[in-house]
Amino acid sequence: LIQLYMPLNFFGVVYREIRQALTDIERMFGLLNTQREIVDAPDAQALPTAPISVLFDRVDFAYDPARPILNHVSFEIPAGKTVAAVGHSGAGKSTLARLIYRFYDVTGGQILMNGLDIKKIDQSSLRGGIAIVPQDTVLFNDTLYYNILYGNPLATREQVIAAAKAAHLHEFVETLPDGYDAKVGERGLKLSGGEKQRVAIARALLKNPPILVFDEATSALDSKTEKAIQISMEVAARGRTTLIIAHRLSTVMNADEILVLDAGRIIERGRHAALLAANGVYAQMWALQQQDRDAD
Ligand code: ATP
Repeated sequence: LIQLYMPLNFFGVVYREIRQALTDIERMFGLLNTQREIVDAPDAQALPTAPISVLFDRVDFAYDPARPILNHVSFEIPAGKTVAAVGHSGAGKSTLARLIYRFYDVTGGQILMNGLDIKKIDQSSLRGGIAIVPQDTVLFNDTLYYNILYGNPLATREQVIAAAKAAHLHEFVETLPDGYDAKVGERGLKLSGGEKQRVAIARALLKNPPILVFDEATSALDSKTEKAIQISMEVAARGRTTLIIAHRLSTVMNADEILVLDAGRIIERGRHAALLAANGVYAQMWALQQQDRDAD
C-alpha cells in the first residue's frame, strides 16, 4: 500500500504545485479573466544555461494600442547582478516583470537572455528559470512545511529547513507549537504580510532559479520586519540575476543599478549614492520617505 501511496502522494504534490503556481502568478499579475495568446515558436529553444543576463533593448509595450505603457526602455541586468525599478504607482514597474515572464509580448524592441530573444525560448523552460516573489503570496490550507516545499516538491526536509533559515523564517517557525507542521491558510494560522513574503522567498530559494523577480509588497511593514525581509531578499538575490520592483527605497540601496520610471520611460538611472548626488527625482523620493519615517 505504501508503494502505491507514495507515487499518488507525489503526483498530488506536483498537481497542487502547478495549480498553486498558476494561481499565485495570475494573482500577482492581475491576470485572472484575461486572454493570453503567447505561443511557442515552432523552433523554440531551451533557456540558456545559467548564468543569464537579461537585456531590455528599446522595449515598447501597450496593453491597449491606444495607450502606450513602456516607451523605449533599455537596461541590462548582467548575470548575477541586481537591478531595481522605482517610480510612482502606474509608472510601469510591474509591467517589466510581466514581460520578463513573457505573459505578454513586447510591442517594440526585444528582451534578450544571453543574447537570445525570449520569443524564441520555450515558455516552460523560460518560466522554470524564473522565480517570482509576488506582492501577496497565496498560502493554501496545508502545513507551513508544504507551503515552502511547493517551491520544489522534490526537495528534502533538510533543504526545506535550509531555505527557511536563509529566508529568515526558521526563527519564527520555531516559536510555533507545531513548528513546520503548523497548518496555515484560511483555515489555519494567519501569517502576517511579512511572514508570507518570507515563505515566498523560501520557496524561491528552494526552486533555485537563475533569475529572480521580487515584487515588493506595497503595504507598510514595521521596521524590524522590513529589515528581516531585506536581509532574506539579499540572500536570495546573491548570485542570481535579479529584478526588484521596489516600493520602499531602503530595499534598493544596494542594487547594482536603480531605474527611476515615470510614465513608462526611464528618467534617471544609477546607483543609490550617485542618484542622491544628482539631486533629481530619486533624491526627492528619498527625502520624502525619510520624512515619513521620521513622522512615524
Ligand atoms: P504600482 O506601483 O502601483 O504597482 P506599477 O508602476 O507597477 O504600479 P504597472 O502595474 O506596471 O504599474 O501598470 C502600468 C500601467 O499599465 C498602469 O496605468 C495600469 O493601469 C496599466 N495596466 C496594468 N495592467 C494592465 C492590464 N492588464 N490591462 C490594461 N492596463 C493595465
